[in-house]
Amino acid sequence: DLLVIGSANADLVIGVERRPGAGETVLGSDLAVHPGGKGANQAVAAARLGARTALLARVGDDAYGRLLLDSQKAAGVDTVGVLVGGAPTGVALITVDPSGDNSIVVSPGANGRLTPDDVRASGSLFQASRVVSTQLEIPLETVVEAVRSLAPGSRFVLNPSPPRPLPTEVLAACDPLIVNEHEAKVILGDAPAGDDPADWARVLLARGPRSVVVTLGADGALVASAEGVARVPSVRVDAVDTTGAGDAFTAALAWRLGQGDALAQAAAYAARVGAAAVTKAGAQESYPTPDEVAAL
Ligand code: ADP
Repeated sequence: DLLVIGSANADLVIGVERRPGAGETVLGSDLAVHPGGKGANQAVAAARLGARTALLARVGDDAYGRLLLDSQKAAGVDTVGVLVGGAPTGVALITVDPSGDNSIVVSPGANGRLTPDDVRASGSLFQASRVVSTQLEIPLETVVEAVRSLAPGSRFVLNPSPPRPLPTEVLAACDPLIVNEHEAKVILGDAPAGDDPADWARVLLARGPRSVVVTLGADGALVASAEGVARVPSVRVDAVDTTGAGDAFTAALAWRLGQGDALAQAAAYAARVGAAAVTKAGAQESYPTPDEVAAL
């Protein structure tokens, strides 16, 4: 039902008293290795909710690549589209200090080698999918090729993260374009849109997407379409760790849209999934089952 095209990274995390400056060495905690990357996160989140999900991604022929494949399979994701080789698996080197501030270096590695040819060779995955969901931790030309490969009647969802200006062809395909506040501001660029997220949603919608969703963290989200702008209620929870909440939100929304929900209805469900994801530490480790969503 759902095809996620995107990144798969190993997140290598070390706790430190103080993040090192230039030329400095500091000692830290034991290393923690977590499966991550926005594509891999979305696929796990959707599969855990019960969605039939496939991932199109690229990892290296190395231990981190196997870790990522294992975590996808454990969640029930179809991994025939997870291609192996061409470069080392993407990694994020993360240091976190006691106040929670972090410094991150990302090596895109194999994610940068997921090419338009890889998309063209995956036609059967597109034929089997009602919704295709992507982000921007893979080359933009690969996302463009995904738009061109959509099966008739299937729907394209994009979370432009990390944000960058988008070609008209990609914007026009989005249904919806899903942005947080930071991504909204970068995509809007110099366009005057003021401080009201409802205005950002309207201005973004005028750029061509069929619909727009602005996520607002603890304040929930906004949905915008030809029918106007509507607020999606937030769900009050004790936030422990917001890592990966946006990926869980996007995955849940994309899946529910493919199941026939209207945009506002799908977004309300996605907000519950995002809220559940912030109640536990980590990204993929924090993603809820349907029972956990229902229990909120
Ligand atoms: P991102 O992780 O991309 O920055 P957000 O922080 O906006 O995205 O989170 C995505 C969604 O997850 C929000 O729209 C909301 O529904 C839910 N969410 C995130 N943080 C919280 C929170 N503290 N309390 C309740 N829901 C949250």
